Amino acid sequence: MFSSMAIAATLVFSAHAGTLTHDHTPPPAPDFSAERDPFELDWTSPAAGIWVGVRPQSARFPVTGTSVIVIGETGALVFDGGGTPLQAERVAEKIRTETDLPVTHIAISHWHGDHHLGIGPLREAWPEAVTVSHSFTRAVMDSTLMDSARNPDATPPGALRGQLEGALANPDLPEPNRLWLEQGLVWVDLIEAQGRAGRIPEIDLVFEDSLEIDLGGRVVSLVHLGHGNTKGDIMLHIPDARMIAAGDAVVHPTPYGFFSYPESWAAALRRLREFDVDLIVPGHGGLMTDWAYVDLLTETLQSIADQTAVLVAEGHDLDGVREHFDWSALEPRFAGGDPFWAGRFDVWFKRPILEAAWRLETGLDNEELIPHEHGVE
Ligand SMILES: [Zn+2]
Repeated sequence: MFSSMAIAATLVFSAHAGTLTHDHTPPPAPDFSAERDPFELDWTSPAAGIWVGVRPQSARFPVTGTSVIVIGETGALVFDGGGTPLQAERVAEKIRTETDLPVTHIAISHWHGDHHLGIGPLREAWPEAVTVSHSFTRAVMDSTLMDSARNPDATPPGALRGQLEGALANPDLPEPNRLWLEQGLVWVDLIEAQGRAGRIPEIDLVFEDSLEIDLGGRVVSLVHLGHGNTKGDIMLHIPDARMIAAGDAVVHPTPYGFFSYPESWAAALRRLREFDVDLIVPGHGGLMTDWAYVDLLTETLQSIADQTAVLVAEGHDLDGVREHFDWSALEPRFAGGDPFWAGRFDVWFKRPILEAAWRLETGLDNEELIPHEHGVE
């Protein structure tokens, strides 16, 4: 069944070769053309029976995770089915185009909603499919960490438009941020409706360190390499295709630092480096055929842990850590001097990861699990 697909796959893959990064260089700033809605994916097939759906312009508003489909001889697995139902519907459509086999597994890389809040259409289409995650991820689903997603109707209709228009009314808004928000405004009604339609998924199966899944003629592994972007990060290793989908432990060109674990994240990336693969699929952004960006990220996370430990030992509070932290050897290699990427790097990484590192260094938990109280809204 793979032979004819392999030919098609090669053609598709070469057509998308421009999305591969060979050495790490930051891409040009997005062009912000908004003809396509923000939940459309570009599909790439790096090997027979494997499809990777990457949202073009990964940094546009709102962010949403990459979806991976793996088809065996008896069933298919989806890794991160979609942050919105519209994305998941497109994943389902892609699966039906490529195979008559059922989806048997829907894996969730971590608890952030842009990777799973939309998977309802996949569960409806294949009700026998098993939804699987790390045990921590399932625990989060029932905790207060998911409260903002628990009751989407709590945000009144039009609220998102109001927020974007309010931000755009600020005369001091940097131009790159203005472009980013204006593009979001073009699609604001769709984005808000999709956000409202998302639901926290039920998770059927959990694991701690690794889980092998036999799809018929193809065995894949879900692996947890340690605390990283969250405490429950998992990756999808497909040995026969020599590839790994890393979830948000690898996000290009600027990582997300919110409530993460710099030191153990760096250790997890060193473990990732030991996998014998030729292709790394980030949780957001273009595919990678070398380790340059993973090495940069590892070095950066280790530096964050090391510098923060020294600054806290010297008695600095969070403001002091931010003031004295030395980004000079790190930031230009992510932002490349581009004001758009510098802005995203600041908002998505520099500010949150120093807070995360400072919290850990002072004994705070970055993802404390407080059970959601059922029936109390
Ligand atoms: Zn994400």
